[in-house]
Amino acid sequence: MMQTQLVIVGGGPGGYAAAFLAADLGLDVTLVGEDANPGGVCLYRGCIPSKALLHVAALIAETRHAAAWGIAFGEPRIDLARLREFKDRVVNRLTGGLGQLARQRKVRFLRGRATLQGPHAVQVALADGGDETLTFETGILATGSRPAAIPGLSLDTPRVMDSTAALDIPDVPKTLLVVGGGYIGLELGTVYAALGSAVTVVEMTGGLLPGADRDLVTVLAKRLEPMCDAIMLNTRVSGMTDEGTGIRVSFEGEGAPAAKTFDKVLIAIGRRPNSNIPGLETTRVEVDRKGFLVVDAQRRTAEPSLYAIGDVAGEPMLAHKASHEGRAAVEAIAGHKAAFEPLAIPAVVFTDPEIAWCGLTETQAAAQGRTVDVVRFPWGASGRATTLDRNDGVTKMVLEPGTGRVLGVGIAGVGAGDLIAEGVLAIEMGATADDVRLTIHPHPTLSETVMEAADVFFGQSTHVYRPKKS
Ligand code: FAD
Repeated sequence: MMQTQLVIVGGGPGGYAAAFLAADLGLDVTLVGEDANPGGVCLYRGCIPSKALLHVAALIAETRHAAAWGIAFGEPRIDLARLREFKDRVVNRLTGGLGQLARQRKVRFLRGRATLQGPHAVQVALADGGDETLTFETGILATGSRPAAIPGLSLDTPRVMDSTAALDIPDVPKTLLVVGGGYIGLELGTVYAALGSAVTVVEMTGGLLPGADRDLVTVLAKRLEPMCDAIMLNTRVSGMTDEGTGIRVSFEGEGAPAAKTFDKVLIAIGRRPNSNIPGLETTRVEVDRKGFLVVDAQRRTAEPSLYAIGDVAGEPMLAHKASHEGRAAVEAIAGHKAAFEPLAIPAVVFTDPEIAWCGLTETQAAAQGRTVDVVRFPWGASGRATTLDRNDGVTKMVLEPGTGRVLGVGIAGVGAGDLIAEGVLAIEMGATADDVRLTIHPHPTLSETVMEAADVFFGQSTHVYRPKKS
């Protein structure tokens, strides 16, 4: 029987970030994951392959747009095998690099499926046969999440895909129905639309990207609408039948259309935490109503030797939240004073344009009955956005009245995902609008929109005339 100080179950961004920090702090670490290398959903079946494909989609969109600048390209000839090769190369390079980093740090990586055997032991069914039992002082559960299925409507056919199947791009269907107007559905819908599918999106709530501020979503919707065949809101899928040559889908809800046949259907209605960890019942770990493992500020579960991080330990289910939680948990395990208490966790939707936000949203402020000042800088006034021919963006700040303290930032526009980091830093540092506007931003860049949004608070933005109301 093997002994280890710290065992981590799950090799995603939560698990491997935790493993690497723990090794850096001198702990003897074993990381258990089901893929050939660390990486988890994010690198193998999520963030990374989707962004590689979205890069290609953006290029296709840009070449089409270029006609307006006097540069005309022909229709793209798409070689799916090479596209898949590119995506796989990206994934293999990054996951291979993580394997190498694990070896350099002397993290023991076991490929297999873990079954808990009480609070201090785990059995791993190794992928290449046999099993290994490990005893450990402390364990971190980082088992992530999986795609949710529509209850009662699952069909066992390659014509109905989840995000994992869709990322493989087995073909480019003529017609694709995307069920779910959240970020995964919209990102993958964007990829397929760029490759040539006629995409229809169906969303059961009244708007795309539930939870995001509507003014940001409106910017995206204006570009998505012409890109899609149809976007149906307040509509749900009520039935699906496999007709052999396509999937017949019926709808219900406000303005639901008649049943229609699609070549393929992508189900992207959310993700469920993998809290059904084999052997969990041999521990005192608690699971909440939504299926998340219950943790405290250090990410310790009700079983003192076991911690939980990442998608399995609660919302938001995002890679950067998982890795920061993992690092906080490891610090706590190493005896440091640590807690996972961020003021802002950024969210990014990598569509075209991107949407990103962090901290308090205007929607949340309204729901909490909290008075805030909201300032906006329209990208129509940004020099950089104009050079890119992308004036369709907006940068907004949610500020504390009186002090101007930055409580939230929201951005819709190209590159919003990169720009939002400044908002996160401002919130974490307790910056005010004055701090942000006095910080010299390089010209001409989209980052100036953040500075000028702060200027708008004072009625003194150079490029928009919006005097402060007295
Ligand atoms: P995961 O990455 O889910 O990894 C957990 C691993 O544990 C899995 O590999 C699983 O096989 C393994 N495991 C489970 N049970 C066991 C067991 N018993 N034994 C051994 N191993 C086990 N997030 C972002 O922040 N940005 C994005 O752009 C983004 N894009 C996404 C796009 C798509 C299409 C999808 C599906 C997700 C995306 N996400 C994105 C979400 C992101 O992938 C997750 O939030 C992140 O991977 C969670 O990390 P994790 O460490 O909690 O677990």
